[in-house]
Amino acid sequence: MTKRTIEDVDLRGKRVLVRVDLNTPIENGAVADDTRIRAILPTLRYLIARAKSIILVSHLGRPKDAPDPQYSLKPVAECLSELARTPINFRTDSLTDNIEAVKKSCEKFKVTLLENIRFYPGETKNDPALAAKLAQLGDIFVNDAFGAAHRAHASTVGVAQKLPTVAGFLMKKEIEFLSRALENPDRPFVAVLGGAKVSDKIGVIQNLIPKVDTIIIGGGMAYTFMVAQGKPIGKSLLETDKIDLSRQTLEQAKKKGVKVLLPIDHVVSSEFSEKGDVKIVGENAIPEGYMALDIGPKTADLYAKALADAKTVVWNGPMGVFEMEKFAEGTHKIAQAMAKVKGVTIVGGGDSVSALERFKLADKMTHVSTGGGASLEFLEGKKLPGIEAIANK
Ligand code: AMP
Repeated sequence: MTKRTIEDVDLRGKRVLVRVDLNTPIENGAVADDTRIRAILPTLRYLIARAKSIILVSHLGRPKDAPDPQYSLKPVAECLSELARTPINFRTDSLTDNIEAVKKSCEKFKVTLLENIRFYPGETKNDPALAAKLAQLGDIFVNDAFGAAHRAHASTVGVAQKLPTVAGFLMKKEIEFLSRALENPDRPFVAVLGGAKVSDKIGVIQNLIPKVDTIIIGGGMAYTFMVAQGKPIGKSLLETDKIDLSRQTLEQAKKKGVKVLLPIDHVVSSEFSEKGDVKIVGENAIPEGYMALDIGPKTADLYAKALADAKTVVWNGPMGVFEMEKFAEGTHKIAQAMAKVKGVTIVGGGDSVSALERFKLADKMTHVSTGGGASLEFLEGKKLPGIEAIANK
């Protein structure tokens, strides 16, 4: 790890401003999934034991640059207070108008959580004035929000330019697992990519081609690749403007000696629903008027075999429309095969993570990333602005 972390700085007597990712689903005014809240606890506990005061900053959802009660962090403050077993000073007053009052109140409490930072128009614009207000609240800035690291916002990048900046434990863990896979993976290294669109994943595939031994492709994106190979896909998902790029990508992989696996059978349906005429068809056999909504059983076996001796696996994107029972089996079998891997398994991306949770296999993975977009961009080889802004050792 080349970045400085909270273990590299003296926190005694310091006011620590911490960017966290508490962007959790809220249902009926309560937190519906506390994964992201639990994920910040190691950093929070470490800071509670050492720093003078801790001020947490997060976003939740996409409010339109103004306060909106449905995106309030209040339910998160309550949940965090319970999980961390500590009182939380939740501040809803304006940073722009009342910074002195906010500052004083933060000094009276060990842990403060500020209201949703996206209530301020300056956040997503990386406004230096908002960053300066935030910077007034701390002596040190800790970025532990891997899930927001691909955004150059006031609370991720702006404030880092005004305060000494280090990574928290969650940020450290995410960077370590992902960079080890990219830079120094144990082999065989297998990438499993699925999900709806080629356009979302092509950058990842291209960055991974020089690094991996095998690429497994499933989900809706597989069908554009199949068209590139001249295979029939019926009315399955197709991005016509990505056919050429898919063909070139397959050629690139071949040149590098990377094995690319595509589906050899399919679960198809006459409509995008379980109520359609659903059947399993073989290779080159998707009928006109049918769409493939999951990989078939032979494909799942083939993919599971390719995973069996893997030492590093990175997975992003489901193999089919796993939200519907009849099209969830392919994703389930891949998750089970990943659970058996005797090496490092890394899963990123919101949908693959929710699939894993549904199958109760999340705890069988070495690392489940908390950042969907951020982990994708990391795997694409992009430099994430939030990480770039953290000081090097
Ligand atoms: P992504 O967010 O790109 O990872 O895509 C996830 C979405 O892709 C999920 O909601 C799946 O239902 C959808 N998906 C996966 N396979 C297919 C498919 N064969 N046809 C249509 N949608 C799919």
